[in-house]
Amino acid sequence: MTQSSGSIAVVGAGPSGFYAVDALSRARPDARIDIIDRLPTPFGLARYGVAPDHQGTKGVTRQFDRLLAKPGVRFIGGVALGRDISLPELRNLYDAVMIATGCGRDRRLGIPGEHLDGVMGSMRFVDWFNAHPDAVDLTETIAQARHVAVIGNGNVAIDVARVFAKTAEEMAKSDIDPRAQAAIVAMRLETVSLYGRRGPAEASFTINELNEMGRLARAVALVDAADVANVAAPDSDPTPERLRKQKNIEALRGFSSNVPHAKPVGLAFRFHRAPLTLSGENGRVVGINFAGGSYTPADLVITCIGYDTILPDDLPADKGRVANDEGRVAGLPGVYVVGWARRGPSGTIPTNRADSFAVAERLVTDLAPSSRPGPAGLDALLASRGVATIDTAGWQRIDKAESDAGAREGRPRVKLTSWAALRAAANPA
Ligand SMILES: Cc1cc2nc3c(=O)[nH]c(=O)nc-3n(C[C@H](O)[C@H](O)[C@H](O)COP(=O)(O)OP(=O)(O)OC[C@H]3O[C@@H](n4cnc5c(N)ncnc54)[C@H](O)[C@@H]3O)c2cc1C
Repeated sequence: MTQSSGSIAVVGAGPSGFYAVDALSRARPDARIDIIDRLPTPFGLARYGVAPDHQGTKGVTRQFDRLLAKPGVRFIGGVALGRDISLPELRNLYDAVMIATGCGRDRRLGIPGEHLDGVMGSMRFVDWFNAHPDAVDLTETIAQARHVAVIGNGNVAIDVARVFAKTAEEMAKSDIDPRAQAAIVAMRLETVSLYGRRGPAEASFTINELNEMGRLARAVALVDAADVANVAAPDSDPTPERLRKQKNIEALRGFSSNVPHAKPVGLAFRFHRAPLTLSGENGRVVGINFAGGSYTPADLVITCIGYDTILPDDLPADKGRVANDEGRVAGLPGVYVVGWARRGPSGTIPTNRADSFAVAERLVTDLAPSSRPGPAGLDALLASRGVATIDTAGWQRIDKAESDAGAREGRPRVKLTSWAALRAAANPA
């Protein structure tokens, strides 16, 4: 391989980073492409966001794994942009840099009481049940909860509610962290309620996810009949969006005829509830006060209202995202951005494919291969700093260890949960 083929660093090994690698390696089969992540493992939210019981969705990672087998493509884990290496350094090493770092933190409600124990953003909760190595153990926090409130009306809210509501048997084929599963099963759960500021027509659920809520073994889906009477998707919506909303409304209308207490857990969809303040006792949340004066008891509140971008290493910001013109980062020639870091936290995994392919095409058009050192220069710099990296073979060893542990329990995998365990599996002594 010659140096003149070009060298590209993709920072962030989530779906948008991998789709970029896919497009770049097709357009420039001889280019040297490093996909770098701060974590020891690839796949971003496909590993640590997507719900553990939706293994079909996680199947996309098999196609990302195949990209790592391509000549010239390397995974470099354990390297954080802004900590282990700076953006100017990457620009000196590679002919182009693609930022694909996603959105790194929960958006806040911004209401009084958000600091109370028992209140958390969905990322904190999802990290825990998905065995993220930075996750905080929530066993104690959830142990005493009986009434869980989930704030938000999108699919993440549904994922969170479903993970609480499902039985251990229903989660048996998932890759949920077994400790989180045990803690959830031990709860004396009575209700899980999803609260939306607006009505059923505005909810951004998708129909498969919503329908699944009507088929749970121990939880009955409930909707107040008044919330779904005389509701229709607006005619002004484009047809696919109108159809999606109409299907949601029909499904919710179906839930409105379910009998409360028909099953041990009530799974209630509540609309037109905008939280104003959270009430607490002894530092712990006990309820939510809504606009209009209504109140509901809740001893665990999980907000699912989106995410904010953590801008790595002084990248220019625009409304919380990396400032860019169709993926070209403002004021930084040779630097590009894709995925949630570019568009904000919206869209499913496939949405990132079209985005990454379009931006990769622009990068390839602009690319002027040079004598920059590329991967060899990165290795030398990281070695000089003593940064312990995880390469593709290291990830494959982690993958095997987790899959083998899963096979022993009839699960797709049992994830290694700590940085130390991941590093040890990747690079055995
Ligand atoms: C809870 C949840 C559930 C979801 N469920 C689904 C679903 O069922 N189906 C679906 O299609 N979509 C789902 N999505 C959406 C989907 O996950 C996103 O569309 C997609 O992951 C965005 O891809 P991304 O690559 O832009 O970001 P991410 O997936 O977040 O990847 C970003 C990567 O960048 C790395 N990174 C961040 N900062 C740095 C740094 N400074 N240096 C180096 N690396 C860094 C991160 O470690 C991460 O690996 C879900 C999202 C969430 C939050």
